[in-house]
Amino acid sequence: MKLIKQTIKGLTTAWMGLTLTMRALFASNKKRKVVSITDNNYFKLQENTNTIQYPKQALPVPEVGRYQLDVEIDDCIVCDLCAKICPVNCIDIESIKSTQGVIGETSDGSKKMLYAAKFDIDMAKCMYCGLCTIVCPTECITMTNQYDRTVFDLAQLTYEFSDMAPEEAAEKRRLLDEQQAAKAAAKAAALKAKEGGVS
Ligand code: SF4
Ligand code: SF4
Repeated sequence: MKLIKQTIKGLTTAWMGLTLTMRALFASNKKRKVVSITDNNYFKLQENTNTIQYPKQALPVPEVGRYQLDVEIDDCIVCDLCAKICPVNCIDIESIKSTQGVIGETSDGSKKMLYAAKFDIDMAKCMYCGLCTIVCPTECITMTNQYDRTVFDLAQLTYEFSDMAPEEAAEKRRLLDEQQAAKAAAKAAALKAKEGGVS
């Protein structure tokens, strides 16, 4: 009698498991409906496949998504704050001081006195903390809702935002070096003259 009961229980359990498997199998033939996360039914969509047919289908992301970084370089004052606060050092900036003082204005009226000879962000290292966007005084570095920039070569995930040609940067460096050398020479001459006057 005990054996019969156990057999019936075993068959019932196996049938229930099989039914569940068959239900999931047939349901997985249907594509998942893509709805925005803001849709009231988003978490009720438990039917069909759990995955979507990416890239043919893509989940809608919020406009304020915090994914890939972007830099509006014309609005950058090259203050380096973003690079300094980055916890993983993935922002690499080379600034060159202008020899003519102010060289322009950003859209919020901030004065620009430095050239951005280099402004690279290694998105392969970035941990999307957003700290760089918080400290930026001109709000020119922002997180966008772009999340897929798939590449085959990791190096392609280093985004270059500087619009300065290497030749132009070399010329600006040369002018600055000359200016600094002239200032140093003038300072040394003034000091020498002062010492000569004292003696
Ligand atoms: S989001 Fe964070 S980790 Fe990424 S570049 Fe900005 S500060 Fe660095
Ligand atoms: S904090 Fe903003 S203004 Fe300063 S270097 Fe970074 S992006 Fe440019």
